[in-house]
Amino acid sequence: MTMNTSPLQFFKHIPKQHGLMDRFARKLTYLRISVTDRCNMRCDYCRPSSDAYQAESHANILSFEEIERIVLVAADLGVNKVRITGGEPLVRRDLPLLIEKLASISGITDLALSTNATLLGKYAQALADAGLNRINVSLDSLNPLRFRSLTGGELEPVLAGIQAAKDAGLTPIKLNTVLMKGINDDEVIDLIRFASDMEATIRFIELMPMKQGMDWEKHYISVDDILQREEVRACVDMSPMTTGNTAARYLPLKDGIGEVGFIMPMSDRFCEGCNRLRLTADGGLRSCLPDDSHMSLRDVIRQGGSDEDIRAVFLRSALIKPEIGTYAFDADTEKRSMIYIGG
Ligand code: SAM
Repeated sequence: MTMNTSPLQFFKHIPKQHGLMDRFARKLTYLRISVTDRCNMRCDYCRPSSDAYQAESHANILSFEEIERIVLVAADLGVNKVRITGGEPLVRRDLPLLIEKLASISGITDLALSTNATLLGKYAQALADAGLNRINVSLDSLNPLRFRSLTGGELEPVLAGIQAAKDAGLTPIKLNTVLMKGINDDEVIDLIRFASDMEATIRFIELMPMKQGMDWEKHYISVDDILQREEVRACVDMSPMTTGNTAARYLPLKDGIGEVGFIMPMSDRFCEGCNRLRLTADGGLRSCLPDDSHMSLRDVIRQGGSDEDIRAVFLRSALIKPEIGTYAFDADTEKRSMIYIGG
C-alpha cells in the first residue's frame, strides 16, 4: 500500500536537489537517532522516577532495518552526520550490527554515539570495528558516592569505558557534564583536569527543565555564573568563545592543552545554527528538541509507505522546524524527558 492520499502528497513535488532546507535557510544535515528509551541509569535530571517511567514495548521500537531505511533516505536528502543515542544506546542488543549498517551508507561521513559508558568496556572495540567514528560520554561527577546518588550507577566502569574507547580509537572523545547547582558545580575544575589528562574535551551543559526532571529552579546555574568564578578564570582563557557548526561554544585552557566547551540551551540559545532533526526510538521525527510536534515514520513504514513517503515526512519536518526552540518550562505541555526523546 502506498500513501497516495496522505497530506504528505504536496512534499513529493519538491525536487530532490532541494535537500533539507528549513524556512530560515538552515540546512539540516544532522540526524540524532534514539535506538531505545531504556537506560541502565536513572539520572535525576533526565529520567522520571521509576513509578512514572513507562518504557515503550519492544514492538513499538524501530527495528535496525527500519532505521537503516530511514537513514538511507535521509542521506539521499543531504544528511551526513548521524548520532546514535537513547536512553542508553548500548543496552540495545547487537548495537554494533546497526553501526555496521549505517557506516556503510554512502554520504554518512560522521557516525557518533552518545553513551553513559557503563558498557563501553565491553563494546568499544566492536563498535570501532563496525565503523563508529567517535563517542560522547555523560560524566556528571568524579566522586563515586555522588555519582551513584545522582545516576544510580557506578563510576568505575564508566571510567574504564572511557579508557576502552580511547584504546579503540573512538576519538576525539567528548565528555558531557550537566551543571547542577549544589550538586556538582564544585567539580568544574576537577572535571576539566580529568578531561585534559584523558586527552578528551569536556563540555558543560546548562540544566534544561524537562517534564518530571529534577527541580530546575533549585539546581539551574548558568555558564556565565560558572565563568565568573575565580578558580575557573585561573584555568580558562576568557577570550571570545569560538563556535563551529555545533551547539557548543569553546574557550581555550590556559595551559595550552585543549579547550573546554559550553552548551547553553537556557542562557544563550544556539538555534540560528541548528542543523538537527531527531528520530525517537518509537519512530517519531522531531525537528526541535523542546517542540513536541512530530510525525511517525514508524507508522509510515509499517503502513507500507514508500521511500518517497519517508522523504516527504523529512521535508515536512524541515518545513515546520521552529525558528527558535523554547525551553521555558511549562508543566502543562506534553514535553517529554530526554530519556523518551533521545538526548
Ligand atoms: N545515555 C546516553 C548518555 O548518557 O549520554 C545518551 C542519552 S542522554 C539523555 C544524552 C544527554 O542528555 C546527556 O549528555 C545528558 O546529560 C543530557 N540531558 C538529559 N537530561 C537533561 C537535562 N534536563 N538538561 C540538560 N541535559 C540533559
